[in-house]
Amino acid sequence: MLPYNNYLSKIELIKNGKLSLVENVAFFLDRIEKNKHLNAFNFVFADEAKKQAILIEEKIKSRRHGKLAGLVVAIKDVLAIKDKPNTCSSKILKDFISIYNATAVQKLIDEDAIIIGKTNCDEFAMGSSNENSAFGNVLNPADTQRVPGGSSGGSAAAVAANLCDVALGTDTGGSIRQPASFCGVYGLKPTYGRVSRYGLTAFASSFDSIGHFANCTEDAAAVMEVISGWDTNDSTSSKQPIPSFQNLNLDGKKLKLGFAKEYFGDGLDSEIKTSIENIFNKLKQQGFEIEEIHLPHNEYTIAAYYILTTAEASSNLARYDGARYGYRSNESTSLLEMYKSSRSEGFGSEVKRRIMLGTYVLSAGYYDAYYRKAQKVRRIIKQDFDEAFKIVDIILTPTSPTTAFKIGEKTTDPLEMYLSDIYTTSANLAGIPGISIPAAKSSNGLPIGMQLLANQFKELDLLKMSYFIQKNIL
Ligand code: GLN
Repeated sequence: MLPYNNYLSKIELIKNGKLSLVENVAFFLDRIEKNKHLNAFNFVFADEAKKQAILIEEKIKSRRHGKLAGLVVAIKDVLAIKDKPNTCSSKILKDFISIYNATAVQKLIDEDAIIIGKTNCDEFAMGSSNENSAFGNVLNPADTQRVPGGSSGGSAAAVAANLCDVALGTDTGGSIRQPASFCGVYGLKPTYGRVSRYGLTAFASSFDSIGHFANCTEDAAAVMEVISGWDTNDSTSSKQPIPSFQNLNLDGKKLKLGFAKEYFGDGLDSEIKTSIENIFNKLKQQGFEIEEIHLPHNEYTIAAYYILTTAEASSNLARYDGARYGYRSNESTSLLEMYKSSRSEGFGSEVKRRIMLGTYVLSAGYYDAYYRKAQKVRRIIKQDFDEAFKIVDIILTPTSPTTAFKIGEKTTDPLEMYLSDIYTTSANLAGIPGISIPAAKSSNGLPIGMQLLANQFKELDLLKMSYFIQKNIL
């Protein structure tokens, strides 16, 4: 059991001398050790975390502490931490050491969070099950026969198994929300551009968002406030003002809720459907107005997403050529051979599949038929959301069509795997924020996630609604 309910109560306990930060870090390190079989971490920074605990405990006692003092955070292994490995769970970056901090990481450090390690993930964040990692599978803490979801599977499992307070992840098509739903934790994907991508290894640059996992809405809100904001190092980061995320009460604010039939069709597990419908009913009883809205182009999201993201990935991953970063094959006799064999040996099969798909959709003759068309579909999907958000504030959907599946169940069928993202990729195509909250348990005890979507930069509404549901419905 956690010795506190949320971060604010924890910091109160520390201030009052009732919780020792040093003991708290030791507690998490012990749990990490005991849960090694989950394989949630690629690297653990035990000594640094212990040292930081001593320093920050002093700061708290003398009231000089930052906003997240003592919060124990894990970082997905695609985000740079100075002098630490940044492997992206890939053989090609196995020995790569970062020379600077990602902005999101720097902001956590500046507010006195304690970084405890780097978490396992799908290679270059490509996957929905964490089975594409050069560091091996991550096991779902709720059932170790099952996947934790992906690609931020290690971060989700670490928070669910209580190995840290909060973990950063990234979400290009659902990689925070889907593993959050599989593991039974809160997973927030902010608006595209809300959090600087500086120091995040690019997968699909116009989709990638940094966000986080937490055990409660309050912790998710506290971290949201810290990591958001404009950054000179990321020209796509936004200058939109950052609200205070301290007050999560609705205080009479009427948020209108949306129901979209398109998210409740074929392929949705019946228990998940019933659980989400139950929550709709309870919210109705609490006086919320629920309106049916339409997202008519939803059926094209997976196709558009996999065309556009593979195109961007094929370009972003061109830099791993054995000359500039990481792994270099020594099997080669010429420069060209060196490029080829470094990439063939360094990348795993899913990454190669995506590079090939992406190169294909960008090639002359196919560019118009696939890439350009998918860009048009992307705009139409965005327009669908624009229309919907004229009517409602928050759209409630399942996060994933199924609960966590068995390890190996979908590895032979990439299309089947891609369909796990059917409810999450739309938010990335449209650039809007979303949160997955642990809504229920299935009859076999597996977590069921519910997704809340809001218009761009409306993270505060999302978190307020999440908080209301956490307090009054669950
Ligand atoms: N599962 C999706 C994919 O494989 C999403 C990945 C992500 O959000 N990083 O592309």
